[in-house]
Amino acid sequence: MDLFEMSQIPLNEAIKVMKLDETVADLFVHPERTMEVSIPVRMDNGKTKVFTGYRSQHSTVMGPAKGGIRYHQNVNLDEVKTLAFWMTCKCAVAGLPYGGGKGGIIVDPAQLSERELEALTRGYIDKIAPIIGEKKDIPAPDVNTNAKIMGWMMDEFSKINNQYEPGFITGKAIALGGSLGRVAATGRGVMIAAMQALKVLKINPKKATCAVQGFGNVGCWTAKLLHDQGVKIVAVSDVYGAIYNEKGMNPYEIEAHVQKTGSVARFKGSKPISNEKLLELPVDVLSPCALELQITKANAKKIKAKIISEGANGPTTPDADKILKKAGVLVVPDILANGGGVTVSYFEWVQNLYRYFWKEEEVIERQTEIMEKAFNEVYDAAKKHNVDMRVAAYIVAISRITEAMKLRGIY
Ligand code: GLU
Repeated sequence: MDLFEMSQIPLNEAIKVMKLDETVADLFVHPERTMEVSIPVRMDNGKTKVFTGYRSQHSTVMGPAKGGIRYHQNVNLDEVKTLAFWMTCKCAVAGLPYGGGKGGIIVDPAQLSERELEALTRGYIDKIAPIIGEKKDIPAPDVNTNAKIMGWMMDEFSKINNQYEPGFITGKAIALGGSLGRVAATGRGVMIAAMQALKVLKINPKKATCAVQGFGNVGCWTAKLLHDQGVKIVAVSDVYGAIYNEKGMNPYEIEAHVQKTGSVARFKGSKPISNEKLLELPVDVLSPCALELQITKANAKKIKAKIISEGANGPTTPDADKILKKAGVLVVPDILANGGGVTVSYFEWVQNLYRYFWKEEEVIERQTEIMEKAFNEVYDAAKKHNVDMRVAAYIVAISRITEAMKLRGIY
């Protein structure tokens, strides 16, 4: 089964629970538009190399397509389409006026020089320019892309259109119209989701423990903000390995260690463990913040966490979901838990459109309000329909999207 097929399982379950006809499934299974592009880049050695990129717009029913662009050697069309579908549902769960999209380039950016990376980035924007724009499709950062890359994209798109175009992209640096609070926003959302789940299970955060898989932007901020709430961070990992200390570690110090050494490995006072072991630790909160397909049929039975707050997109397979549900693990699904990034992206876009900027406290307050509301709506839907939080999140998303589809005359 490919990733896209797999992603439709909880959606189809939600459609069944809601007693909607199969037209709805058919409408969701087809992305509105997908573009594949070839990007020739003159490399530093003088030779030209051709890279492949994609942009998929799953839906524009609720508003312009919205979603990040990832640079990774394993990017493929199936993954991009699936991620775009998740964005459609994520934006609907948070109640944002957006559809969903996603882009990606097949590249390991660590192998490129800064100049090559910039040339690739500009070349990609040149190719997808006809289908993007502040009212059409608004990209953002994702795996291995950041504010610097968003800046090049913004500059390239502004050049193509001969006008200042801050609102076509989010996750920019503050000087280019970025929003305060955007860098931390996805991690803040994962923290808010975990805190809400702890509240529901009546676990005192000051006595709770947490393991975080992945120490990129999402994992690092999730760990830091949960630590600020008094949650003990006992394990974190990155691509080079995982570290553990049952007494808890200070993620701000781990971050400083990563800045110095390039990895979480060998952080003082920690002992190395495997990535598999990290997922199986007896913690209150497990937060997978790396890539998809981490919690599967193979390891779900060994998970001892009480709560899973998904920072990554698609870290848990449908088979694993079933096992976790039976074991009573409260899974706060990606399309709810990691919606903080796109929520503050929405704030950034709003600020860009009216050229007036908010204070950081305002951003945090509004993000918290949106995410707590979304959590409660999904939690209530789960109770009402006797389904897990993932299916419940799809119920919330589908009811909003199908209402708009009906009013637009699509369905
Ligand atoms: N890449 C992030 C996500 O998967 C953020 C998307 C955005 O801000 O548009 O949710």
